Amino acid sequence: MSTIDTLPPLREVIEEHGLAAKKSLGQNFLLDLNLTSKIARTAGSLEGYDIIEVGPGPGGLTRALLANGAESVIVVERDPRCLDALAQISNHYDGRLKVIEGDAMETDWQNLITRKTKIVANLPYNVATPLLTGWLGGEAWPPFFDSLTLMFQKEVAERICATPADKHYGRLGVLCGWRTHATKAFDVSREAFSPPPKVTSSIVHLQPRPEPLPCSIKSLETITRAAFGQRRKMLRASLKSLGGEALLEKAEIIPTKRAEEIDVAGFVRLANAL
Ligand code: SAM
Repeated sequence: MSTIDTLPPLREVIEEHGLAAKKSLGQNFLLDLNLTSKIARTAGSLEGYDIIEVGPGPGGLTRALLANGAESVIVVERDPRCLDALAQISNHYDGRLKVIEGDAMETDWQNLITRKTKIVANLPYNVATPLLTGWLGGEAWPPFFDSLTLMFQKEVAERICATPADKHYGRLGVLCGWRTHATKAFDVSREAFSPPPKVTSSIVHLQPRPEPLPCSIKSLETITRAAFGQRRKMLRASLKSLGGEALLEKAEIIPTKRAEEIDVAGFVRLANAL
């Protein structure tokens, strides 16, 4: 029995179902259900939402979401070895959990949901950033989710939340800052995982902005790729092929500035000037 439900402790679940962690699937499992409950609570109220979780593994976060009031949790897991353990959770919680075996990178999320949605996940490190940019990078906005509460390697979390003059500020910070209000909630030490990863992790909470400053995402990507691709150069040099000084003048940006000094509004002006 655990502290949050009457299901067996996660160590027993892993043992019983032979879930030895596979590095190729980014498997670092959280075994402390108090910690997974803290992650679930970071997402705010879970009632009335479909909660999507990517990569439930043995179900530590899944159980916390259900124990903390989620009425509908939909999980997508690539490792078939986890399915029996997840089916036990689904039985225990009277079908409030729907388990989908599949690859999150190929999942059509909007097809899975029936109402407003939050995404909460301890993401597999190898697909964490592409999943995030996929969720934030579509032309259509607002997105299908009300919030994202996600675990990343700490260094990636810092890039997500970075603002100008921060050494982690780059393309990811511009995308996340443009479309969301992103905050780091708390760090999670290596020792909390089994097996421990090489680095500290962090939980990030992203709240979509209802009306980000208007611009085409393709243009924004073109500008930030060029600007941060040569981040030590002045913008008049790094943006030369896109219009150089004339473009910068149109966007009212001083040509001797560097990418790391330009805020989201400045990049939006550049994208619109392009
Ligand atoms: N949520 C569990 C926890 O917190 O203990 C496990 C997290 S573990 C970091 C990542 C999980 O994602 C693993 O269960 C792994 O099998 C799964 N996974 C890896 N790649 C995936 C993919 N492309 N699509 C869906 N799940 C994936």
